[in-house]
Amino acid sequence: MTGGLDLDAILGEIAADMAREEDRGKVADYIPGLAGVDPRHFGIAVVLADGSMHVAGDADVPFSIQSISKVFALTIALGKVGDQLWRRVGHEPSGSAFNSIVQLEAEHGIPRNPFINAGAIVVSDVILGGSRPTEAIGEILRFTRHLASDESIRIDEDVAKGEKETGFRNMALANYMRAFGNLDHAAEDVLQVYFNQCALSMTCRQLAMAGRYLMAGGAHPDTGHNVVSALRARRINALMMMCGHYDGSGEFSFRVGMPGKSGVGGGILAVVPGIASLAVWSPGLNDRGNSQLGALALQQLAVATGWSVLNPR
Ligand code: GLN
Repeated sequence: MTGGLDLDAILGEIAADMAREEDRGKVADYIPGLAGVDPRHFGIAVVLADGSMHVAGDADVPFSIQSISKVFALTIALGKVGDQLWRRVGHEPSGSAFNSIVQLEAEHGIPRNPFINAGAIVVSDVILGGSRPTEAIGEILRFTRHLASDESIRIDEDVAKGEKETGFRNMALANYMRAFGNLDHAAEDVLQVYFNQCALSMTCRQLAMAGRYLMAGGAHPDTGHNVVSALRARRINALMMMCGHYDGSGEFSFRVGMPGKSGVGGGILAVVPGIASLAVWSPGLNDRGNSQLGALALQQLAVATGWSVLNPR
């Protein structure tokens, strides 16, 4: 699959193209810790099934992974309660903004999927599962470090604090779901977990490493042990494909053709099962809150490599 491809040259060219782009989107400013990030950053990292790593641009600069963390949190929650989770969160695309509240009323407090904020807040509630918020946060951090085989990954406390201070909408979502009986813990505690997982700070290299289990049918490439079953990995990939970019998921799939999960920090984690785990970062967002150049870079990469889950070579 990867034979004959000069990935380092392809990534170098993409990074050079992205450096020339003037229309870079707009950096998220509703979270204080994100507002000051320089929109000129661009990084990309690709880890292949054989373990080789290829990078270009700012692949070693940490950024706030934000909603990309919803993939790792979902994986933990499924490990805890299995398919029971789907009683409390759906697995349908929402077609709505990431922080939308509108569908919750008609759907009795059951969020459409685990990748919109409401769904991720329910997932945080499941991870909390009777323990203290600091313990749940520690579990998410340890799990992410384990996936990436990298103990240096940390949580940016300032970003988490800023989210708490400005997270009125998330507070509303949490309390609204609690009113429907779809939250077991106090909204403050659940959101402490949610805000801290969103504030995970990672580089493209670390993120691509963390996504390897989704490339490898659920197995951790360094240990050979299953993080999740192959079926569960397939389903997480399916959710990323359908819901990973909110109301921009169709557009991303149309252009890139890979399961992907975006965050308002400008990162995207994408997976080509059996072939590659990829991470890209450019802080400027489009009007749906997804990285503008991140999607463009992945689109170029998909063309250059022929990688896609929709017409595998
Ligand atoms: N922490 C952000 C929020 O809740 C995450 C949103 C995102 O990355 N789309 O608003």
